[in-house]
Amino acid sequence: MPGCRGQDSRFELLREVVRGPVRRQVPLASYTSWRVGGPAEILVEPQDEDDAGRLFSVFHEHGWPWRLLGAGTNLLVADRGVREVVVSLSALQGIEPLGPQQVRVGAGLLLSKLVKRCVESGWQGIETLGGIPGTVGGAVTMNAGAGDQTVGGCVLAARVVEQGAVRDWPAQRFDFDYRHSAVTPEQAVLAVDFAFDAAEPAAVAQRHAVALAHRRRAQAVHGANAGSVFKNPSRGSAWKLIDACGLRGVRRGGAQVAPEHANFIVNNGDASAADILGLIRQVQAEVYRRMGILLEPEVRLMGDFGEDHES
Ligand SMILES: Cc1cc2nc3c(=O)[nH]c(=O)nc-3n(C[C@H](O)[C@H](O)[C@H](O)COP(=O)(O)OP(=O)(O)OC[C@H]3O[C@@H](n4cnc5c(N)ncnc54)[C@H](O)[C@@H]3O)c2cc1C
Repeated sequence: MPGCRGQDSRFELLREVVRGPVRRQVPLASYTSWRVGGPAEILVEPQDEDDAGRLFSVFHEHGWPWRLLGAGTNLLVADRGVREVVVSLSALQGIEPLGPQQVRVGAGLLLSKLVKRCVESGWQGIETLGGIPGTVGGAVTMNAGAGDQTVGGCVLAARVVEQGAVRDWPAQRFDFDYRHSAVTPEQAVLAVDFAFDAAEPAAVAQRHAVALAHRRRAQAVHGANAGSVFKNPSRGSAWKLIDACGLRGVRRGGAQVAPEHANFIVNNGDASAADILGLIRQVQAEVYRRMGILLEPEVRLMGDFGEDHES
């Protein structure tokens, strides 16, 4: 791990290479929906795809580790922060028409804005996903979904950084599955081409409205959270298992299994990332002890959690 001088020279070089903001010691709690986590030693926000391309080729050339931050709605950032350079693609916001019902979208655009565009245009495919927070890049990486729709189901191709170079990925490269894609922490999705189906606009708008209303009822929890913490196992649902183990409402420091939704963990205001990770581990251990099922976290960890976990 580089010392302070290593970080100084990185910082100076990145400021020379990147047109967008390069900042030091940036607290990340406000960049995540859980509202916890320490600082990024360096946070870089490239201005556009070219700027991002230059940034990732510098990382590759120097062998510098980096991590991608979307809207932080599925992310637990360590209290000690992140030593790798953190990159936000929030400036990559474009929506460019490609053909009938087809668009190229920047990874930093909020998914809800893409859904809105689809609903206004009468395109079907992701209209029930309007209430999922986060960016298009995060949604593709996580293959976000709800009910019978997933983001991956409408992906045609994407521009992805791997080994420091921007490459075109056809949809098959993503190997989309339930909350899974083949994108690794060493790869970055810069832009995504989507193909939707033409449909009756009123029907698309209706499905969008119904899904939003359902979500408001089903996910009415109090406290900062990251949505579902665990993936559903191959049989059954995570919340039912957690509930059956009597864990609903259990607390650890400022973190609590949400009384309203057993697969959500809320920050009651003063939780640390260690509280949340401790509660995740406690739920996993108890469900495994009682049910013999090891719940797999859907949320991702970022940063230095010490010996308990690698970033
Ligand atoms: C209230 C609430 C409700 C939710 N409901 C749902 C739901 O119904 N269905 C569902 O699937 N999810 C749900 N989520 C989880 C979350 O919104 C999704 O997983 C979302 O797609 C994450 O996007 P993000 O931009 O916030 O990614 P982040 O949380 O910032 O990142 C998630 C992971 O993706 C990586 N990543 C982010 N952007 C990129 C990129 N451009 N290239 C490569 N890697 C990248 C990050 O490094 C990290 O590993 C919910 C969350 C909340 C808070």
